[in-house]
Amino acid sequence: MKAKITLLALILAFKLSYSQNAPSEVFGGEFIKNTDSSLCLTLEQRNAIFKELNENIALLKRNGNLAFNNAKRGSHPLFIWPVQKASSVTYSSIWGISNYVDHNPNTPNQLTDYNCGTKTYDTTDGYNHQGIDIFSWPFSWYAMDNDQAEIVAAAAGQIIAKGDGNFDRSCDFSTTTPWNAVYVQHSDGSIAWYGHLKSGSLTSKNVGDMVAEGEFLGIMGSSGVSTGPHLHFEVHTNSTYTQLVDPYTGTCNTMNVDSWWQSQKPYLNPAVNAALTHTADPVFNACPTTETPNLSNQFDLNDQVFFTVFLRDQEPGSSLNLRIIKPDNTDLFNWNYNLTDYYQLSWWRWNAFPNIEGEWKWEVTYMGETTTHTFNVGTLSVEEATLENTSIFPNPFNDVVNINSMVKIEALEIVDVLGKSVFKLKGYTSEGIEQVDLAQLSNGLYFLTLYGEQKEKKIIKLIKK
Ligand SMILES: [Zn+2]
Repeated sequence: MKAKITLLALILAFKLSYSQNAPSEVFGGEFIKNTDSSLCLTLEQRNAIFKELNENIALLKRNGNLAFNNAKRGSHPLFIWPVQKASSVTYSSIWGISNYVDHNPNTPNQLTDYNCGTKTYDTTDGYNHQGIDIFSWPFSWYAMDNDQAEIVAAAAGQIIAKGDGNFDRSCDFSTTTPWNAVYVQHSDGSIAWYGHLKSGSLTSKNVGDMVAEGEFLGIMGSSGVSTGPHLHFEVHTNSTYTQLVDPYTGTCNTMNVDSWWQSQKPYLNPAVNAALTHTADPVFNACPTTETPNLSNQFDLNDQVFFTVFLRDQEPGSSLNLRIIKPDNTDLFNWNYNLTDYYQLSWWRWNAFPNIEGEWKWEVTYMGETTTHTFNVGTLSVEEATLENTSIFPNPFNDVVNINSMVKIEALEIVDVLGKSVFKLKGYTSEGIEQVDLAQLSNGLYFLTLYGEQKEKKIIKLIKK
């Protein structure tokens, strides 16, 4: 894949001009992307996949378990979008597109995507990109750690192969380790490949099992030949499942005439993925270290708040309307910011000092869509300070987990997957952020139950790595 996801560095493009009524100078800009390109799969890996798919299909058929029936081959499926945010994610969106299928058979650097543009890549050794690369944004490693970007079945079908357990924090193309992936055959015989998934995240369903449209398949990761978390979505048809399909219809699509999407998205998708508040600027660490987002929705009176906007496909000549809205719904600041360049990924930041207690809003309107983020200044109201809002990080963890709670926790207990109690703290009280050392537990899946003062409880799935 083309190294558009690692985002090793960021242009910190200071713009010294204040927009009218802006609370501060703007900070931010585009991510510098690594421009190296290589295969999303090596030729050997690709051939091994074809071999495995055909062997598994033959085996399923022999056993009478193959769902696809060539005599009843229907029309091709219509896909839904294969990446969705987890229900816990409050962002507007979590994805962007870095590469389409390359329709120009020549190499190198002879690029034609379905729309006759060059949002694709090829390599000197003759590979033309065969899939669609969809990455997560912002904080792709943080999203991976916290299972925020889910890969779902674009269409119903039967799992023909799956591979899991491979290293999932690749940063370059040097690896020969295979990716983690799920392969689903549809009722017309076509097969969709979902690659680069997070290790251990794959659906528990097995080869031969059926999946529904929209069903969870795994978490976006960076396994195999990859430079950062993204999904490589590739589709093949015909009797040997080797004829490539580009799901997008367009003038320069040389493979298939009609769209395979239920609702084909535009070529570019300019949007606000997230409007967030922070205690400091987010830090984008070197690959594959998880970003330090410095996120917070809770500030003391007159604290400095960092207000960010994370955009995908920022469009030249477009503008953002930005509002910092007080608890009484009047504006502390209301300003516009003009965007002059096309950036696949960009982020912008301003600072302000909210000076009234209560629930505030950070509101960004872009391309007719409004994204509203709420945060609190001063003491939390009783409603918000509940066990429900208690969180655990990091998860998965190594030795120590942090419990971040606004309310008192009276006890906690951890059970393993068999329901056996493996850790207990009673008469323990904590508020704010508390560390709990769980080094003694062996790696695996656990369930943590937190008990509040009113005997209310919350159960959280924990993974020790
Ligand atoms: Zn790819």
